[in-house]
Amino acid sequence: MANKTEKINTGVPLYEQVFCPRCGERLAPADLEIFAACPYCDYVFTRDNNLEDFVLLPLITRWAGRAHNQFPAG
Ligand SMILES: [Zn+2]
Repeated sequence: MANKTEKINTGVPLYEQVFCPRCGERLAPADLEIFAACPYCDYVFTRDNNLEDFVLLPLITRWAGRAHNQFPAG
Protein backbone atom coordinates (compact mmCIF):
# COMPACT_ATOMS: atom_id res chain seq x y z
CA MET A 1 0.00 0.00 0.00
CA ALA A 2 2.75 2.44 0.95
CA ASN A 3 4.76 1.47 -2.13
CA LYS A 4 1.84 2.09 -4.44
CA THR A 5 1.15 5.53 -2.96
CA GLU A 6 4.80 6.40 -3.37
CA LYS A 7 4.74 5.45 -7.04
CA ILE A 8 1.71 7.63 -7.70
CA ASN A 9 3.23 10.64 -5.98
CA THR A 10 6.76 10.50 -7.34
CA GLY A 11 6.24 10.20 -11.07
CA VAL A 12 3.83 10.21 -13.91
CA PRO A 13 0.90 8.01 -12.89
CA LEU A 14 0.93 4.53 -14.38
CA TYR A 15 -2.49 5.02 -15.88
CA GLU A 16 -1.24 7.84 -18.11
CA GLN A 17 1.36 5.66 -19.75
CA VAL A 18 -0.49 2.97 -21.68
CA PHE A 19 -0.19 3.13 -25.43
CA CYS A 20 -1.93 0.98 -27.99
CA PRO A 21 0.65 -1.50 -29.33
CA ARG A 22 -0.95 -1.47 -32.75
CA CYS A 23 -1.64 2.21 -33.55
CA GLY A 24 0.41 3.92 -30.83
CA GLU A 25 -2.42 6.10 -29.52
CA ARG A 26 -2.26 6.96 -25.84
CA LEU A 27 -5.19 5.42 -24.04
CA ALA A 28 -7.04 6.50 -20.92
CA PRO A 29 -8.39 4.05 -18.34
CA ALA A 30 -11.94 4.89 -19.41
CA ASP A 31 -11.11 3.76 -22.94
CA LEU A 32 -10.43 0.26 -21.69
CA GLU A 33 -12.88 0.03 -18.83
CA ILE A 34 -15.73 -1.63 -20.71
CA PHE A 35 -14.39 -3.38 -23.81
CA ALA A 36 -10.63 -3.54 -23.15
CA ALA A 37 -10.11 -2.55 -26.76
CA CYS A 38 -8.44 0.40 -28.44
CA PRO A 39 -11.10 2.93 -29.48
CA TYR A 40 -8.93 4.03 -32.42
CA CYS A 41 -8.07 0.77 -34.15
CA ASP A 42 -10.12 -1.86 -32.25
CA TYR A 43 -7.01 -3.63 -31.02
CA VAL A 44 -8.23 -6.01 -28.29
CA PHE A 45 -6.15 -6.01 -25.15
CA THR A 46 -5.56 -9.13 -23.12
CA ARG A 47 -7.11 -8.63 -19.73
CA ASP A 48 -4.20 -9.37 -17.45
CA ASN A 49 -3.21 -7.97 -14.07
CA ASN A 50 -1.42 -4.99 -15.59
CA LEU A 51 -4.47 -3.99 -17.56
CA GLU A 52 -6.70 -4.43 -14.52
CA ASP A 53 -4.40 -2.15 -12.55
CA PHE A 54 -4.41 0.40 -15.35
CA VAL A 55 -8.19 0.50 -15.51
CA LEU A 56 -8.75 0.44 -11.77
CA LEU A 57 -5.99 2.75 -10.56
CA PRO A 58 -7.97 6.02 -11.01
CA LEU A 59 -10.90 4.45 -9.17
CA ILE A 60 -8.67 3.23 -6.37
CA THR A 61 -7.06 6.65 -6.12
CA ARG A 62 -10.50 8.23 -5.88
CA TRP A 63 -11.63 5.74 -3.24
CA ALA A 64 -8.45 6.31 -1.27
CA GLY A 65 -9.01 10.06 -1.36
CA ARG A 66 -12.59 9.64 -0.21
CA ALA A 67 -11.57 7.31 2.61
CA HIS A 68 -8.91 9.79 3.63
CA ASN A 69 -11.50 12.54 3.83
CA GLN A 70 -13.79 10.36 5.92
CA PHE A 71 -11.06 9.15 8.23
CA PRO A 72 -8.34 11.78 8.28
CA ALA A 73 -5.07 10.54 9.65
CA GLY A 74 -3.72 12.16 12.77
ZN1 LIG B 1 -5.05 1.29 -31.38
